[in-house]
Amino acid sequence: MSFNPADKIQDLQYFGEFGGVNPSISDSSTYTFLSAKTMFDTFEGNADGCYLYSRHSSPSNLYLGEALAAMEGTETANVAASGMGAITPVLLQLCQAGDHIVASRTIYGGTYAFLKNFTPRINIQTSFVNITKLEAVEAAITENTKVLYCESVSNPLLEVADIKALSELAKKYNLKLVVDNTFSPLSVAPAKLGADVVVHSLTKFINGSSDTVGGVVCGTQEFIDQLRNVNDGASMLLGSTMDSLRASSILKNLRTLHIRMKQHSTNALYLAQRFEEDGLKVVYPGLESHPSHELFKTMMNPEYGYGGMLTIDVGNLKKANELMELMQHENLGYLAVSLGFYKTLFSAPGSSTSSEIPEEEQQEMGLTDGLIRFSIGLDNDIERTYSLMKGCMKKTKILL
Ligand SMILES: *Cc1c(COP(=O)(O)O)cnc(C)c1O
Repeated sequence: MSFNPADKIQDLQYFGEFGGVNPSISDSSTYTFLSAKTMFDTFEGNADGCYLYSRHSSPSNLYLGEALAAMEGTETANVAASGMGAITPVLLQLCQAGDHIVASRTIYGGTYAFLKNFTPRINIQTSFVNITKLEAVEAAITENTKVLYCESVSNPLLEVADIKALSELAKKYNLKLVVDNTFSPLSVAPAKLGADVVVHSLTKFINGSSDTVGGVVCGTQEFIDQLRNVNDGASMLLGSTMDSLRASSILKNLRTLHIRMKQHSTNALYLAQRFEEDGLKVVYPGLESHPSHELFKTMMNPEYGYGGMLTIDVGNLKKANELMELMQHENLGYLAVSLGFYKTLFSAPGSSTSSEIPEEEQQEMGLTDGLIRFSIGLDNDIERTYSLMKGCMKKTKILL
């Protein structure tokens, strides 16, 4: 039987204490023990199933973590207060002063800034490479390298990482492969392709309602236990814990992720094909013109498509801004930086979400200032959306 992440999520059911179809929310920061000995054992990590304090774990957070682990096919998972609250502890847990990371140069701006500006303060150095060039990745590995870091589908350029090949490299040099799968939940299951740790910003497609930030780390029981260790666990000690009420609401939204991803993907593929036919410079993994289209096909779970993200290069920032303002005016979407919402969201990453990346480096990686990143919404009539968007492109002289 094939691994279908949506079925794995649906097969998991937790009941509330009164038989509710949703689990009860654990509205407590601290938990009582019947005996003093059990409290001591819990501190030592030897009392499975006992809760201690909600920064360490809580029932609501565990329910959400287990559902996400089922989705990614990992042993377990730990949820966090934000995507960055998941990513930063993972890197700090895996690396010490003197260690080195090889990372894709096209990654989320915040992750890039953390590796470029923050971790050097504790003498963790990072080499940024073109992740689609395996020779470049291998050449950057040094004897101090501990981690290979990439995004399955990168932000904002939509480069696709060859996770299988990268995991072979990681094994060869005894590194941990950490993959951020925020752009392609359900479509790609990195752990099934050999990733050691999978991280997500739940803020985006997984929660899907743009009402909260959240994150998750999916991995082995051993690694998640290390992150949560009361003495030296980065998640436990840095404290980016998700609140139980939020964990409960994200779990409920997760139940419809498969339906939403199919609609995001169908709509994005439709627009990508139409706008490419119109002669625009469109990047979308579902287009044959995408340099990694064939690779993506070998990695994907075909039911969920190529995802909801696409980019269009309209030439320059002035035109990009005009177009985005006009599309917002016509209620086709919102000028906003996030993604995975029911409504289309768009932004010019060069001057917003990727502005942490210096201009010369943006140029080198092909991040032009006329690039617009679209997170395509759940529009019911995408043909109508297309014709209205095309009208905006004509008005701004992007299309003749
Ligand atoms: C948004 C995002 C993050 C950071 O997540 P937050 O929830 O904002 O902290 C990390 N990686 C990717 C790919 C993202 O899009």
